[in-house]
Amino acid sequence: MQILHMNKGEGETSYAKNSVVQKKIISVATLMVEAAVVNILREIQPESMGFADLGCSSGPNSLTVVSQMIHAVDATCHQMGRSLPELKVLLNDLPGNDFNHVFELLPELYRKLKDDYGIHEGCYVSGVPGSFYGRLFPVRSLHFVHSSSSLHWLSQVPLSLGAGAGTHLNKEKIYISKSSSTSVIEAYQQQFHEDFSLFLRSRAKEMIIKGRMVLSFMGRMSLDPFADEACYQWELLARALMSLASHGLVEKEMIDSFNAPYYAPSPKEVESEVDKEGSFVMCDVKAFEIEWDVSDSRTLKESTGHRVAKTIRAVVEPMLESHFHLGTDMMDDLFRRYATIIDDCRSERKFKYTNLVVSFIKKG
Ligand code: SAH
Repeated sequence: MQILHMNKGEGETSYAKNSVVQKKIISVATLMVEAAVVNILREIQPESMGFADLGCSSGPNSLTVVSQMIHAVDATCHQMGRSLPELKVLLNDLPGNDFNHVFELLPELYRKLKDDYGIHEGCYVSGVPGSFYGRLFPVRSLHFVHSSSSLHWLSQVPLSLGAGAGTHLNKEKIYISKSSSTSVIEAYQQQFHEDFSLFLRSRAKEMIIKGRMVLSFMGRMSLDPFADEACYQWELLARALMSLASHGLVEKEMIDSFNAPYYAPSPKEVESEVDKEGSFVMCDVKAFEIEWDVSDSRTLKESTGHRVAKTIRAVVEPMLESHFHLGTDMMDDLFRRYATIIDDCRSERKFKYTNLVVSFIKKG
């Protein structure tokens, strides 16, 4: 069974408290979001605007994007000398997401809208649980679609990797690795192509003509799917799991049968799916590097390894828990080992992810 959601609530290991990397990614994408909103208002001049954030998770990040979008709408309407359209904001994530936590933050958003923009009514926020790999919204109901740090999650682990089938193709690894066979790489690529094309087909039906979409997700600049920028965090996590196995704390077979439902594509792969699907024009694409540890290390006592381990734990703990059934103490042990491994190889490698931000226009 695949469990995909971030760590819930507001505790020490929660996504809400450990999503600084994703926050930074949102800030890098701000200019593209603003440009998209300005273009929608100028070209379509809607009376009412549908906005969906896909993979909103829990914590402050999803509402940050909503605020940004409303700020851009307000500034553009002022410039155009028109009144604000009604805003219908749809927050989507998988059903296991902590939607309650998101809704608890809404009063603060409404207060901000009132204080900063004088918006007393005309902004309606609701939650839409379901997978974005498939239809979520009515036909032609969306003007703007946004998603950050979500589309690198696949709909499932590629079936041919052999989870549950007894023959495991990617032994001792949990994602594409330099030692993975071509069939492992092809299985991941195939799953990404199917998923991304289903995503585009679904959004194409839901969006209006000339609607805009801004997506940011983990990717790579290199053409090699096993480049460090795309895989190294998984490589080191596999090492931490193998170190538990070498002490008899987890069965090696459990590691052999686990693979992450994840894929970090290159801009070329994205472009090729967009061309094949045919409903969208890619109008802007940016690939940028982002440090694994974005905090200012001089002011903090914890090591880089510990800080990075926390950000990864907030994201992968539920899926590890559902496969390995480790319990809290063992999970703590795993992430302590992971932190040490990261600190130990700090000098060898540069610890950077590559993120892609892509802006799309829905064709007529
Ligand atoms: N957008 C937020 C959260 C990113 S975390 C931010 O930028 O911080 C990624 C989120 O994507 C998770 O909450 C996960 O549950 C969600 N997600 C992954 N696959 C999904 C799918 N198929 N459909 C909907 N949401 C999905």
